[in-house]
Amino acid sequence: MAVMILSGGLDSTTLLWKLCYEGEKVYALTFNYGQRHKKEIEHAKKVVKKALEEGFKVKHEIVDISSISPLISSGALTGDSEVPHGFYTDEKQKITVVPNRNMIMLSIAVGFAVKKGEKEVYYAAHKSDYAIYPDCRKEFVKALDSAIYLATIFTPVELRAPFVDMTKAEVVALGLKIGVPYELTWSCYEGGDRPCLKCGTCLERTEAFMLNNVKDPMLTDEEWKIAVDEYKKYERQF
Ligand SMILES: [Zn+2]
Repeated sequence: MAVMILSGGLDSTTLLWKLCYEGEKVYALTFNYGQRHKKEIEHAKKVVKKALEEGFKVKHEIVDISSISPLISSGALTGDSEVPHGFYTDEKQKITVVPNRNMIMLSIAVGFAVKKGEKEVYYAAHKSDYAIYPDCRKEFVKALDSAIYLATIFTPVELRAPFVDMTKAEVVALGLKIGVPYELTWSCYEGGDRPCLKCGTCLERTEAFMLNNVKDPMLTDEEWKIAVDEYKKYERQF
């Protein structure tokens, strides 16, 4: 079985579908790291439920590491700061970085893989996140893969990031082809009832669907119009 990190967002849900679509059986790990948008955990559960209904072989584990949150909490996702509006490329978006988050989650996933006798750990890092999330970059994937190999040398585990050279729009293009249930995914960093449509991840999501000429299926027609207007508003600032 493949081990993967499933956040309940668009990218990791596409990764889950891709693996299942290719016939893999998957252990999906979803982390509660004290994030403001805990709602994504509920969405991860919905996604897995749907995958099981489709006949895919998925086992889901919710991993509660929220007790480490006070040690690393800072910025907008786990600390007290407000979630900034605008694109990721904007300097102010750096406060949405949770320090070393992916390394922490991947480290646990690798331990889990060794325990289960599995050989591969997947995560959905992609090119559109390079600008501000250093632990989504190719160099990080390569270096961590080497470190994981050395750390697990008697029962080696490999790190796989199949989207690392793809943009978010390309990830969505793939997902649309293989029937990813995007209506069940959650991206917004605010933990509101509905997506705010203004934060970095909302704007990036809107852009990914716009570039594929489809409406985001988790939004109503009215929300989609607002999302596109918000996108254009921030786009004009560059
Ligand atoms: Zn948002």
